Amino acid sequence: MQINGDLLNKVKAAVGKNSTSYLEKILLASTEHGNFGMDLLDRLRNQLPATKCANCGQCCNSVSIYSLEYHRIVRDLMTRCSPERLHRFFVSAMRPDLRQADIGKEKRLRCVFRDEKSKVCLIHPVRPFACRIFGLLKEDGSRECDQVEDLNFPARAVSESELTELQTKILENSESYQVFENTEKIHFFPFEFWVFRHVFSPQRALQIYREVLTGMSTPLSQLWQKEIQLDPIQENNYEI
Ligand code: SF4
Ligand code: SF4
Repeated sequence: MQINGDLLNKVKAAVGKNSTSYLEKILLASTEHGNFGMDLLDRLRNQLPATKCANCGQCCNSVSIYSLEYHRIVRDLMTRCSPERLHRFFVSAMRPDLRQADIGKEKRLRCVFRDEKSKVCLIHPVRPFACRIFGLLKEDGSRECDQVEDLNFPARAVSESELTELQTKILENSESYQVFENTEKIHFFPFEFWVFRHVFSPQRALQIYREVLTGMSTPLSQLWQKEIQLDPIQENNYEI
């Protein structure tokens, strides 16, 4: 899928110039969001089997998350990171071009929170649902990654309906947006989308999602190619 290079360049220039004021907006939005829904996330997390894995990092690519999870992550970072570190995280989130990678045959955006040096997830206690469910034992006995092991014995299989039920509770408390005309609203977007949603506006964030982020990620491209025939990118005359 094509990436709108003009839009990407405008985002890069705007971030280069205004990153400090963008960081203020991001932190203010999550401060104003408050604790709403944070207990719910903890309760749902505790219903999932605890696991460990080989921590190779191959699956640590930008995953789609709910707005509730986004605020949870930002609020966690605010409590334990210096202003300089916060600035680095969010500039990294707003510069997806610096995190592009080929994983196998797929184009992926590496996760902002994967520290390749220490090989750890920098937000492990508050990592999103999508990361927690990856590799859980399924009812047919398989796992998406065979390096994942349950910490409790015997391992408990998790059904699709159980996962859907848990996620329904999160999405009932999260924002949703329509990405393309004639498609249903969705609740899950990459961390980068939620950052742009608070820095610019939902409309601009949706445009960046459609015209930049989707083209950088094979799973996102596949998701939307299935739904619609994507139009070629139009000439733009906007300012960021
Ligand atoms: S779940 Fe699997 S692919 Fe992902 S980091 Fe762990 S071992 Fe690697
Ligand atoms: S949040 Fe953590 S576990 Fe999830 S993709 Fe990022 S680094 Fe990996």
